[in-house]
Amino acid sequence: MKQFPDFLKAIPHKFGPKEEQVLKRAYEFSYKAHQGQKRKNGDPYFLHPREAAITLGQIFPDSSTLAATLLHDVPEDTAFSIEKLETEFGPEIAHLIDGVTQLGQVRMKDSKDKFYVENLRKLFIATSQDIRVILIKLADRIHNMRTISFIPPDKQLKVAGETLEIYAPIAARLGIGSWKDELEDLSFKIVYPKDYVTTQKLLDEELESRKESVKEMEKMLHHILRTEGIKYLEITGRIKRLYSLFRKLQKYQKDLSKVHDIIALRIITKSTADCYAALGVIHKHFQPLPGRIKDYIATPKPNGYQSLHTTVFNKESKTFEIQIRTDLMHEEAERGVAAHWFYAEEGKPEGVGRVQANWIKELQSWQEETKNPEEFLESLKIDFFRDRIFVFTPKGDIKDLPAGASVIDFAFAVHTDLGYHMMGAKINGKMGSIFDELENEDTVEIIKIKKEAVISRDWLKAAKTHSAHNRIRHYLNEHNQSIINRIKELKLKDFTLPRFFRKK
Ligand code: MN
Repeated sequence: MKQFPDFLKAIPHKFGPKEEQVLKRAYEFSYKAHQGQKRKNGDPYFLHPREAAITLGQIFPDSSTLAATLLHDVPEDTAFSIEKLETEFGPEIAHLIDGVTQLGQVRMKDSKDKFYVENLRKLFIATSQDIRVILIKLADRIHNMRTISFIPPDKQLKVAGETLEIYAPIAARLGIGSWKDELEDLSFKIVYPKDYVTTQKLLDEELESRKESVKEMEKMLHHILRTEGIKYLEITGRIKRLYSLFRKLQKYQKDLSKVHDIIALRIITKSTADCYAALGVIHKHFQPLPGRIKDYIATPKPNGYQSLHTTVFNKESKTFEIQIRTDLMHEEAERGVAAHWFYAEEGKPEGVGRVQANWIKELQSWQEETKNPEEFLESLKIDFFRDRIFVFTPKGDIKDLPAGASVIDFAFAVHTDLGYHMMGAKINGKMGSIFDELENEDTVEIIKIKKEAVISRDWLKAAKTHSAHNRIRHYLNEHNQSIINRIKELKLKDFTLPRFFRKK
C-alpha cells in the first residue's frame, strides 16, 4: 500500500493534528474496505479514491471533504453500509458520501430534447444538495477520465460524452478552470477523435511557425515593463487548449486567422493598479486591435473570472493576445469557487466579494454573514433549486418545473398539443388525474385522446407555469369565440349573449 505520509505530502496544505487523524482513519478504512478489489488496469482499487482525494486536495484541502473522497466508493462497492460509515466518521462525512452515491445515479440518456442537457445539469446540482458533493464527484470523474483507456470503447464514449456535456460545464460554472480544461481535453479525444487529431496538428503547426515571434514579444514585454517602471511578478506563455480551439474554429468556419488567442502572453502582477498600469504602457508601445480590449476586472465573467485582455499588433503586424491579472486572480481562475472557501477559512477577505455565477451569489452572502468556518461549511448545502422539481417523461427526458406544478403543467411543457388532448396520466406507473400535483423525480406518462380535451377554468387553478396558463387562456378565448360565431351564423340578431361571452 502506498503510505499515508506520502498521501499527505501530495496535498499542499498543513493540516491540524485532529484533521490529520480523521484523514488517516479514512485512508486506512478505505484501504481495508477495498482490499482485494482491482481496477480495470489491474491497479488496486484503493488507488482510485486516493488519487481523487489528492486531486481535490490541490484546490480544496478541507479534511472532512477529503475523508469523504477517500471513502466515496465504499457504500456502493464494498460490504460496509453508509450507516457503518456514519458510526465511524460522524454525520457530516457520511452525508457527503451519501450525496456522492446518490449523484452516481444521475446518468445521461440518449435524448433529442434540446433542454435535456441543461436540465440534467440542474438535476445534478439539485441532487448533490451540498456543493462539496459536486467537488468530490468532479475529482472522481477526473481520475476516471485519466484512466479511461482501460474500459471498453462503447463505455468510454458514454462516459466521455457525459463528461463533456455535464461535468466540464459544471466545473466551468464553478470557475474551476484547471478542471474544466482537463475534463474537456480528455473527453474531446474520445468523443471527436478525428477532430482531435486535426486540431492538434493545426495547433502544432501554428506553434512551430510562431515560436520565434512569441519569444521576441516576451522579451520586448519584459523590456518595456522594466523601463517604464511597472511592477510585475512574471510573464508566462499560455497555449489555447485543444477543445476550446476546436469550438472557436467551429464558430469561425475553421478560419484560424480569426482566432486571436491561440497563444497568449500572461502578465502576472501583485496589484490591480499594476494591471491597469501594464495595460497602459503596452498600448503606448503596441497598436491595440479595436474591440478586443476586455476589462474582466471591472466586469468579471459570470463564473467570477477576472483579467484584462487585449490584442495588439507586433512590428510585423501579427496579432498577439496579452492577458494581465494579479496572482490572486490567477489562482482563482484555476481553483474557482474552491479558492473562495479556502480564503474564507483562512480569513483573507480579498478572495471574498467577487461576482459569482448566479447560483453561487447566495453562497457569498452566507459567507459574509457566517464568520465561523464550520457554520459556513454547514451553510453550503445547496437549496438554490429548492423551488424547482424535475419530472421525467417515459423516455427519460427531464422537465424542469416550479414546485407545486401539476400534470397539466407537465403536459404543456412536453408539447402544446399534448396539453390540448390529455385526459389523464400515469404517475410512476399508477393512474392519476391531470390535476395531481407532481413531486421531484416523478415519471409521468400523459394519456391522450384523439379529439380536443374539454378544457375548463379549473385547469387554470391547477396550472403553475406561465406557458400552461397562456395556452389554457388561449383555448378558452378561442372556444368562446367559436360559440359567438355560431350564434352569429344562426342570425340570432336579437339574441343577447350571456355575460360570460361578453367580456372584453
Ligand atoms: Mn469513484
